[in-house]
Amino acid sequence: MATVIDGKAVSAKMREEIAAEVKEFEEKYGKTPSLTVIIVGEDPASQVYVRNKEKACAQAGIKSEIIRLPEDVTEEELLSKIDALNADAEVNGILVQLPLPKHINEKNIICRIDPKKDVDAFGYENVGRIMSGDYDFLPCTPAGVMELLHRYGISPAGKECVVLGRSNIVGKPMAMLLMHENGTVTVCHSKTADLAAHTRRADILVSAIGKAKFVKADMIKEGAVVIDVGINRGEDGKLCGDVDFEQCFDKVSAITPVPGGVGPMTVTMLLKNTLTAAKKQN
Ligand code: NDP
Repeated sequence: MATVIDGKAVSAKMREEIAAEVKEFEEKYGKTPSLTVIIVGEDPASQVYVRNKEKACAQAGIKSEIIRLPEDVTEEELLSKIDALNADAEVNGILVQLPLPKHINEKNIICRIDPKKDVDAFGYENVGRIMSGDYDFLPCTPAGVMELLHRYGISPAGKECVVLGRSNIVGKPMAMLLMHENGTVTVCHSKTADLAAHTRRADILVSAIGKAKFVKADMIKEGAVVIDVGINRGEDGKLCGDVDFEQCFDKVSAITPVPGGVGPMTVTMLLKNTLTAAKKQN
């Protein structure tokens, strides 16, 4: 019988642990860890993500501020906002909700955030530190996947690990973290020839491609651990992952559901990064 990796339950437990650590921090330093989120424009999905972050911060006792800027804000205005937050000792973590409008260069924005406050870990200094295995923060989604593996006693060491997707925010750092923990890692993408030949070798398969129910039972190895990062709408209009959960369930040893798998972990890791940032700054 396959294990369903319950990201919702792990997340709830971690958020309790983080809330307790936030209390300890307050007792020790007489202040509250704080996160500032900048959101530009009215993108409905981004609005939902930001609201979730705000709610999660409140539950964990982390102070959060949301700065809402209009769609037509200039890059210079956004950069000067970030400069002000970088200089503000009361702000421990800064996050700019992506995507940004086309007229703003995302790279310039994420790299302007003080690396010590870059709780998404997308800035190039933190990316470099992750590459070299010397980091304070990890990007939230891949970090959430690793936390799930740890808490379910699944080690990548010596295993064939296959990552589907090579984005800067999920696929690439995911591959790096699995490699740091001694997995033998293959990264597949849209130009990979014979993708199924790779996925069938995987002891641990992580999918982050954004294609509803793309991974079918004949693409996975018997007894594989399958981690589904994808968040998609299926043909029935319901939320689903990249993996055909029903089809694959009988073949895997463990699998994350969508929703309730990796998703809740992403916000939880943001809380953890904010707390880490606050500790490092004090
Ligand atoms: P991107 O669109 O940035 O990247 C998708 C990657 O998948 C690319 O590398 C692309 O290849 C690859 N890809 C696309 N189609 C195929 C295919 N048919 N076969 C093989 N590879 C393919 O997406 P993200 O990394 O931002 O997100 C991926 C998914 O994860 C999305 O569903 C997103 O919603 C979800 N997500 C979930 C989070 C969570 O908290 N659970 C957080 C972040 C994302 P190429 O590089 O060649 O174009």
